[in-house]
Amino acid sequence: MVLEQLDTLYREVILDHFREPHNHGELPDAQIKAQGTNPLCGDEMAFWVKLNGDHIEQVKFSGKGCAISQAAASMLTEQLKGKSLKDAHGLIQTMRAMMQGQEPSPQADLGDLESLAGVRKFPVRIKCAALSWNILEQGLQDYQRKGAA
Ligand code: ZN
Repeated sequence: MVLEQLDTLYREVILDHFREPHNHGELPDAQIKAQGTNPLCGDEMAFWVKLNGDHIEQVKFSGKGCAISQAAASMLTEQLKGKSLKDAHGLIQTMRAMMQGQEPSPQADLGDLESLAGVRKFPVRIKCAALSWNILEQGLQDYQRKGAA
């Protein structure tokens, strides 16, 4: 089990979010609903995003799967609330770069997402963490494309 091999600090933060996920639930009046799966591990996730202009007013998720996938979703929703769509895309790019081994800039406001850096040592598990931002990015892009059409 990967979690047992993580550094204690990372493990505790991830387990906290897994046991008590933030922003868990559904948003019936959300403009964006996006979902996806990670068949390698069996993780499933859906996100609801409520926008106010070009800002994310509220975001929630529901799903099931391993601790890393569920904790990543909880952490990501926490960081995305109140962000502009542009900053949301920026955060997703930062997370992707971090999982590929780049150190995030000190200005990057990652919050608990930083603890996912410990998952880099386990390439198969990177997909568990990345499921959240892959789904959200797709959802935001689809929405913005529709809006521009
Ligand atoms: Zn997983």
